[in-house]
Amino acid sequence: MKSLINHEPKTTVGRFDLFLDGREVKLLIKIYLAEGTLDSLERPTFMQGFKNEIRQTWEGKYGFTSGEDNHASIYNLRIKVKFVDEMGNAHFGVNLIDSDSDSVSRQVFYGARNLAQDFKPASVKLNKRAVYPASDQMKSLLSKNIIDSTRSAFPFYADLFGGQLSLHTESQLKLLVKQIKAADPATVLAVTVYGNNKKQTRTALVQKMRNWGLPGTVIRNSKKIGSSSNPRSGRGDYVKITIKRGFGVVDLDSHPMFRYPSTVSHEFGHMIGLVDEYRCLSKSASDKMAELDFIKANEQRFYEGYYAPGSTNAEQESQASQALLAQWAHDAGTEPAQYGIQSTSLMSSGGKLLARHMLTIRQALIELSGKSDWKIVKL
Ligand SMILES: [Zn+2]
Repeated sequence: MKSLINHEPKTTVGRFDLFLDGREVKLLIKIYLAEGTLDSLERPTFMQGFKNEIRQTWEGKYGFTSGEDNHASIYNLRIKVKFVDEMGNAHFGVNLIDSDSDSVSRQVFYGARNLAQDFKPASVKLNKRAVYPASDQMKSLLSKNIIDSTRSAFPFYADLFGGQLSLHTESQLKLLVKQIKAADPATVLAVTVYGNNKKQTRTALVQKMRNWGLPGTVIRNSKKIGSSSNPRSGRGDYVKITIKRGFGVVDLDSHPMFRYPSTVSHEFGHMIGLVDEYRCLSKSASDKMAELDFIKANEQRFYEGYYAPGSTNAEQESQASQALLAQWAHDAGTEPAQYGIQSTSLMSSGGKLLARHMLTIRQALIELSGKSDWKIVKL
């Protein structure tokens, strides 16, 4: 059995042990649960709930293969959470707070990250209810954030390059279409294409959007006379997509659209080195995304300024991490995150675990095995 002890992802958040054991990739996180607001009965319940929630969200969805390996030889991910009595033995500290709100402050989580001298585990503040699925009130709020964020993306303008959207823009459009579908599948989106080969391009794009889940997507002919340009980039080859019908009032209380796991499932992502995806894209990460050809250079300004309702600035610490995660996504052949958007992703506002959430584990696996050809496989 090979092991990697006290691994710190280069994204500078998180710390864990990784073991390669037979056909299993075992990730161990040791947590120090600070004395807080739990009584002697609540404490074991919290710990068990913590373990259950993380395994339920993070296990059984993605695995890894290497070299000649195929689907028949997948390394499954197993996650072990161990509560330890000494702060110094922990990978992570959890401070329980006594509050009626579900909110989690990560100020301490980031602020305590000073490894200059002694090892100090990063810590997170959690409410004692953080191990339970989100409350109805919280679900409703998160759904509203996603709906508002999705709606604010329209009219959707994007440049076309030889009749194609850039990789990242296509991912973003696909995400928006899927989120609209979840809220109101009868929504009609209208697609107008300007510039070269517009008929061919719009037919292909409309077909894609129908396949992604909105069969009512239609072609719209431009009524503009003469040449026009994308108001966001000034280019003449572009697409404009509008909401023609539907996606109006969405009853979030009686119609929960998305599965929200517990807060700890999201926090676990930070514990293994992932960053919040609702933060805006930093300049350094946008440079990296253009270098890797996920976006085109003239789209950078748009993505850097993309600021959906509820999104926040990229903190100093997550700026470099965004760029590194983009590089790792490129290396692993997965999609990088959409930043500055409230989405259904687990590291944004939703509950969906995605291939990119395996990237820090994959990097640890590369370090552990000495092999760089690890692939992330959806199970
Ligand atoms: Zn977070």
